[in-house]
Amino acid sequence: MLTQSHDTIQIAGAGPAGLVAAITLVRAGQKVIVHEAKPNVGWRFKRDLQGLENWTTKQDVLQELEDLGITTDFDYLPCKQGMTYDGTGQEYPIRSKIPIFYLVERGPNAGSLDNALLVQAQQLGVEVRFNSCVRQLPYPAILATGPKAADAIAVGYHFETDMEDGYWVICDDELAPGGYAYLLIWNGKGTVKTCMFTNFKHEQHYVQRTVITFQKLVGLEMKNPVEHGGVGNFYVPTHVYSGNRPIIGEQAGFQDTLWGFGMRYAINSGVLAARSILDGTDYDAMWQAELKDRLKTSIVNRAFYSLLGHYGLKWFIKYVAKQSDVRQFLYRQYNPMFLKTLLYPLAKLRVKSLRNDLACSHLDCECVWCRMGADR
Ligand SMILES: Cc1cc2nc3c(=O)[nH]c(=O)nc-3n(C[C@H](O)[C@H](O)[C@H](O)COP(=O)(O)OP(=O)(O)OC[C@H]3O[C@@H](n4cnc5c(N)ncnc54)[C@H](O)[C@@H]3O)c2cc1C
Repeated sequence: MLTQSHDTIQIAGAGPAGLVAAITLVRAGQKVIVHEAKPNVGWRFKRDLQGLENWTTKQDVLQELEDLGITTDFDYLPCKQGMTYDGTGQEYPIRSKIPIFYLVERGPNAGSLDNALLVQAQQLGVEVRFNSCVRQLPYPAILATGPKAADAIAVGYHFETDMEDGYWVICDDELAPGGYAYLLIWNGKGTVKTCMFTNFKHEQHYVQRTVITFQKLVGLEMKNPVEHGGVGNFYVPTHVYSGNRPIIGEQAGFQDTLWGFGMRYAINSGVLAARSILDGTDYDAMWQAELKDRLKTSIVNRAFYSLLGHYGLKWFIKYVAKQSDVRQFLYRQYNPMFLKTLLYPLAKLRVKSLRNDLACSHLDCECVWCRMGADR
């Protein structure tokens, strides 16, 4: 608990986790300073297109943000219908009654999620200090500095295009080992990526294959392509305090281990940590009550997905496409169920952090983590 209400609370990192924590604290009357190592928000994402998933709760994610007092004043594209492909190029349309996710832009530009959070925080009185890379912060403080290891990578291009809005996903180990390749187009801008869970050294090979396959399947056209890549760090922690300072978002390892939809974990953990400081409650108890079972379920999902192989993936995509409402299907898969709770100890043996994977030794290494370390 804060000893004095005028204690300034400092936050390291102005990603969604840090900014949401700051907004929650300042709305409760606290003085907040956010330190951001880069010259602006969303630096590691440039102008990446990402999906704000809308399937882990029955409530719509935008409504959830509003209820939490977090702005929804960013541009977004509600996405219901999309197209998935198996490794043979067979297409499977997927559909949902309400948006499966909202496409948002990341990065510093006006209209992006990061910029909207920044504007809200600053308007409420949060002081954001850019180019302020902190190593230590005294209590009261929150740590929100993003991923600390590469358990998965997403690499490819940002570009301009005349293609129609839409999203396309290919589940094929030949394009994305252990993961999936995706193409997102919105308003003349696009992102094409391979999201890989292993074999990082050969990312360029998989990026090339991904681009060629999307050219063949959907006529991908890229103008002014710019390389972009980033990392994801997933694990289920035991305690997420550093001393008495809560750790939130991906720095804590909060991520969707199945497919890397980490933004909602970042937002939710930011709110929980802020409340724990305000109320003097135990943040560990809070995230364990609200997030832990879902984190564990995502480990089981990943273990299952990693066992599928070529024919299993084909079956899986076909099965998903048969669902009349994919959002509801994903809701069931992402939320805890008895069988998955039983399987968790086994899944945990299979799904381990790649922190020690020799594919990314962090020494004399050309992988995306090491190459793009400066603006991760
Ligand atoms: C290519 C890619 C695609 C993705 N797509 C999706 C998607 O479609 N949907 C989804 O939900 N999630 C997606 N994710 C994951 C999602 O982006 C992250 O989970 C989310 O941004 C985590 O938020 P965060 O606030 O914890 O960390 P970050 O967004 O990484 O923010 C951390 C901030 O801390 C700053 N920082 C670091 N060190 C310091 C320091 N010492 N002092 C001060 N500041 C510091 C960093 O500069 C950064 O601004 C994707 C990730 C990648 C890499």
